[in-house]
Amino acid sequence: MSDLLLTMISISSSISNWWNLQNREYLPMGGSVNMIEESLRLAYGEDSEFIKDKRIAAVQTLSGTGACRLFADFQKRFLPDSHIYIPTPTWANHHNIWRDAQVPQRTFAYYHPESRGLDFAGLMNDIKNAPDGSFFLLHACAHNPTGVDPSEEQWREISYQFKVKNHFPFFDMAYQGFASGDPERDAKAIRIFLGNGHQIGCAQSYAKNMGLYGQRAGCLSILCDDEMQAVAVKSQLQQIARPMYSNPPVHGAVIVSTILGDPALKSLWLKEVKVMADRIIGMRNSLKESLEKLGSPLSWEHITNQIGMFCYSGMTPEQVDRLTNEFHIYMTRNGRISMAGVTTGNVTYLANAIHEVTK
Ligand code: PMP
Repeated sequence: MSDLLLTMISISSSISNWWNLQNREYLPMGGSVNMIEESLRLAYGEDSEFIKDKRIAAVQTLSGTGACRLFADFQKRFLPDSHIYIPTPTWANHHNIWRDAQVPQRTFAYYHPESRGLDFAGLMNDIKNAPDGSFFLLHACAHNPTGVDPSEEQWREISYQFKVKNHFPFFDMAYQGFASGDPERDAKAIRIFLGNGHQIGCAQSYAKNMGLYGQRAGCLSILCDDEMQAVAVKSQLQQIARPMYSNPPVHGAVIVSTILGDPALKSLWLKEVKVMADRIIGMRNSLKESLEKLGSPLSWEHITNQIGMFCYSGMTPEQVDRLTNEFHIYMTRNGRISMAGVTTGNVTYLANAIHEVTK
C-alpha cells in the first residue's frame, strides 16, 4: 500500500475521530475557506498576485460537475442571452450541464479524426468566427475523451485570439496532474491566459488526482476586476448554491486542505500523482508496442501521442461492441479506452483483442 494512502487513512481516521468527537457541523455556504485557498494556489500558482489581491471569487463545489453547473447557472442568471461554446467532442455531461442550466450551446472544432490529433486550424477558425465576448469551455489539460491537448505554443495563440475577440475562457480542470504528472505543469494553459490578462473561470476536481471521487470535493473560481467585485460574485454564487444544496460536504474538503496545507503530505501527494501518470504513460507504450508486435498494419502512434487518462482509439462502435461481446473488454462506444484500467497483467490480452477486431 502506498505511503500516501497509508497516511491518508490515518489522517482520514483521525479526522473522522476528531470530527465525530466534535460535531458534524455544516460548512459555510461557500464551503471550507482552507480548502478554497489551497485550491486557488494549485490552479493560479503559489505566489499568484490575484490571490494576494483577493480578486478571485471562489466557492467549494460538489466536485468538478458541481463547479461546472454552478458556473452555468451563474452565466444564465447574469448573462441570460449568452451561449457556451463546447469542443467537439467533449465529456458528454458538459452538454447536459449547460442544457439543464438553459444556456444555449454551440460547438467549436477540436478533434481531427484522420490525424487523431488537434484540429488547430478549425479551432482557431471557430474562435475567430464566434461573436465577440463569447463564453468558451476549455479543458485545461488531459482532454476527455480525446487525450489531445494543444501544445504550449498553440495555447499561446488561442489565448491571443481570445484577447482579440474578448472571449471568456472557462477552464474545466478535472485532471490536474494526469497529463504530465506535475500539477504545476498541467496548469500551464491557465497560467498562459492569466499572463495575458484574461479574466477566467475555473472548475477544479479532486476526484481523479486525489482519488476522492465519492467525496465530491471541488472548487469553482472566477477571476474578477478587483476585490469588491470578487466579494459580490462570491455572494451571488452562494445565493445560487443555497436553494440548490445549501452547503457542500465537509469530509473530502478536510482531506484536501490537510494534504495541501502540509508541506510533507503535499510532497508525498505530488510524488504519487507522478507515479500514477508515469504508470499510464508506460501502459500507453506497452499497448502500442504489443499491437505493433502482433503485426497490426494500422498506425497506433496516437496511443502514445495522446495524454492523460484516456486514449481515443479510433475504434468504431461496432468494433467496441465486438470487444465487449467476444472479449469482455469494456469501454465507451466512441472507442475511448480508460488507460487507468490497463495493467501489465492485461495489456497483452487487450492488444490481442484490439488487433482481432481491427484486422
Ligand atoms: N470534467 C471532465 C472533463 C470530466 O471528465 C469529469 C469526470 N469524468 C468531470 C468534469 C467531473 O467529475 P467530478 O464531478 O467527479 O469531479
